[in-house]
Amino acid sequence: MADSFDVIVIGGGPAGYPAAIRAGQNKLSVACIDEWRNRDGNYAFGGTCLNAGCIPSKALLESSELYHRAREEFAVHGIKLTEVAIDVAQMQKRKAAIVKTSTQGINALFKAAGVTGLHGHGKLLSGRRVAYTGADGSQRELTGRHVVLASGSAPAELKSVAFSAPHIIDSWGALDLEAVPKRLGVIGAGVIGLELGSVWRRLGSEVTVLEALADLLPMADQQLAKEAGRHFKKQGLDIRLGAKVRGAKLASDAVEVSYEDAKGGHTLTVDRLIVAAGRRPYTGDLLGAGTGVELDERGFIKVDEHCRTGAEGVWAVGDCVRGPMLAHKGKEEGVMVADLIAGRYGEVNYKVIPAVIYTAPEIAWVGQTEEQVKASGRPYKIGVFPFPANGRARAMEQAQGFAKIVAAKDDDEILGVHIIGPMAGELIAEAVLAMEYAASSEDLQRTIHAHPTLSEAVHEAALAADKRAIDSINR
Ligand code: FAD
Ligand code: AMP
Repeated sequence: MADSFDVIVIGGGPAGYPAAIRAGQNKLSVACIDEWRNRDGNYAFGGTCLNAGCIPSKALLESSELYHRAREEFAVHGIKLTEVAIDVAQMQKRKAAIVKTSTQGINALFKAAGVTGLHGHGKLLSGRRVAYTGADGSQRELTGRHVVLASGSAPAELKSVAFSAPHIIDSWGALDLEAVPKRLGVIGAGVIGLELGSVWRRLGSEVTVLEALADLLPMADQQLAKEAGRHFKKQGLDIRLGAKVRGAKLASDAVEVSYEDAKGGHTLTVDRLIVAAGRRPYTGDLLGAGTGVELDERGFIKVDEHCRTGAEGVWAVGDCVRGPMLAHKGKEEGVMVADLIAGRYGEVNYKVIPAVIYTAPEIAWVGQTEEQVKASGRPYKIGVFPFPANGRARAMEQAQGFAKIVAAKDDDEILGVHIIGPMAGELIAEAVLAMEYAASSEDLQRTIHAHPTLSEAVHEAALAADKRAIDSINR
């Protein structure tokens, strides 16, 4: 193996591995170092997303939703089941197989793009040298014309609630539960807390979510957040807002959680407690002396809009830098950087990054919320189309939620699209594309959408913005 590369990427998650692949496609010599090890002790590329985040959580969300629908909904279709039971071990086995296929796929992608994949630890030294400690403990010094830092993030630990497996666990632990806990506590009603809470609720846990903030999903459009809150309540998710967790202690085989809300102090007893109180940038033993790379006050690596750190030839992408902690945001940053290094054009449009919450109904949005547009002072109009008026949603027995478009009154530009309903995470792609091309609501109105599809809800929402919806009453 060579000691010097055009590009060395430290971190092989969804920000780092695409950077390495694109660098390879750009005919640059590239190495990608990653230290992720799974519980079986094996190294695997793919970072949090593939091993302990996006992919395993979606696998469990799918399984648990099917179980829930088989129990609650199949009878409506005339499908009679004599017994519906959940085999958690099989569910977990399926999840593990999906993770394995996904992470092993990266080895094949690296090979095809000519990337040298290295398992082990990478540490940036001055002068774009990288100290590499191999899986076997061997040490080597590598040099890169460019170095891309993609070290990702880790679950935030609360000072007052120390992790203590198997009772007090992080999101990775929550993805690996071997049995359905009778009583499950979740700290944090963010995306991760809601998704994991949903998985285990559908399988039968009594789930209580403690959220310090007064509002559910404050970053989302509030009409969407309110609709989501209604559905979660109906599903039996007990979300307690304004509930600040102050501590947790083990009591025989249970956990006693103490929290405070406006009414005073309370105790909640659960069998398992998931701490989903956010994630922090991870830069453990990443930076040696004199690299010139700086961290901000929250621990993120400082970068400009093109992900350049202050140090010549050193870039940083993904969860370890500012911006939403999302796999697709990191991926686009990684690709941008690899293209810029190769002297090509590269840019990330930070204004048009979709967000998806894979609950049922699914929640997805892009651009500004109605509240943000209102605060900006720009005159606006909204169009809302309810899924109960969408034929495909009714046929799917998923006629709930709505699609909402916020557009400028002056030039009709689409400023934000907010969807809660079936396959919202897929539907939002059309809105992302529209906004990427600075489309107007009229552009969407004049675009033909196949019938009967869920996407007609987006079409009709655009029409509703001008009170021209056909399939719902314009208000
Ligand atoms: P990571 O994925 O954290 O990867 C960083 C990699 O770098 C890791 O493998 C780490 O071991 C390695 N590393 C760190 N330091 C070093 C070093 N010094 N030397 C060698 N290797 C190093 N996002 C979405 O967009 N959609 C979702 O549905 C979604 N669901 C999620 C569900 C859960 C439960 C969780 C926890 C997260 C979820 N996320 C989701 C967030 C997503 O996983 C992250 O945004 C994404 O993984 C960040 O990518 P990254 O490459 O920046 O970092
Ligand atoms: P996110 O950052 O989207 O992953 O969400 C994490 C959530 O956890 C946020 O909504 C926080 O308000 C919430 N949170 C953080 N600390 C606490 C705490 N001590 N008690 C209750 N909720 C918390």
